[in-house]
Amino acid sequence: MCELCLQHGEGKKWYEVMRNYSQELYSQNNREKYAQEFIANSQTSMLPMIEKMAEMKKHKPALYRPYRSIGTRYMKRNHIGQVVPLEDALQVLERAQSITRIPCVCRSAIKGVKNARYCFALGMDPFKVFGGFPELKGSLEVLTLEQAKALVAQFDQEGLVHSIWTFKTPFIGALCNCDQDCMAYKSTVSLEVMEVMYKAEYLAHIDPAECVGCRNCMKYCQFGAIEYSSLDQKCCVNLEKCYGCGLCRSGCKKDAVSIEAKALF
Ligand code: SF4
Ligand code: SF4
Ligand code: SF4
Repeated sequence: MCELCLQHGEGKKWYEVMRNYSQELYSQNNREKYAQEFIANSQTSMLPMIEKMAEMKKHKPALYRPYRSIGTRYMKRNHIGQVVPLEDALQVLERAQSITRIPCVCRSAIKGVKNARYCFALGMDPFKVFGGFPELKGSLEVLTLEQAKALVAQFDQEGLVHSIWTFKTPFIGALCNCDQDCMAYKSTVSLEVMEVMYKAEYLAHIDPAECVGCRNCMKYCQFGAIEYSSLDQKCCVNLEKCYGCGLCRSGCKKDAVSIEAKALF
């Protein structure tokens, strides 16, 4: 289990605890102000900072290490994420006090696309949070639970990884649906400069008796966690690399892929 479950899970997964979605929690600790500042930073300084850290890691590793540790501690306190498979993402939506479809701030910062609406704000008032950004604010849309669930299921079919995000931990304020145009992916997976996104509480498993080695599942894995053996003519999961997103299941016509929960304690 992850640190978040240990600290905020009350003996279960931390995102199963209703308090972590509550308006009482949201109203504390200047969370709304933090969310406003986060949106501003995401559009200006975040991507350059990630790229600068990647440069430092390469050329000045001794200088980079303390930055990594300070940055990681800061993100754990304020804005940390965890991958969740579709079934848990749908349950997260059921626990949220309100759901608003919002533009993806990463795709805006990385690709300059301002209305890529892949994210959901949970229990926050995004009309206030995005107030200072007319170009982003224009596409906000309050959703019913059923509308939100249908969209997340559609994003899953499109191969997007679901993740939940805190705004001042442990308040869960967003459900994201991402590909690799994601600052969290860059930071944690591709550039490995800071760990800001935890793996899911699951691991994928491929049943060798059912696998016919077509390799279709590999196309669905954004984390490079599925390996093919030409000797066996089968695929298997690299458990060190697997993020437990469950997307590889969509790629398998033989029903050979499943996800299994990690032991909680
Ligand atoms: S975490 Fe994913 S969906 Fe959320 S803002 Fe970043 S790329 Fe967009
Ligand atoms: S898609 Fe299914 S059958 Fe094909 S390689 Fe992957 S696990 Fe095996
Ligand atoms: S192996 Fe499957 S569950 Fe694991 S990261 Fe890749 S797509 Fe996600």
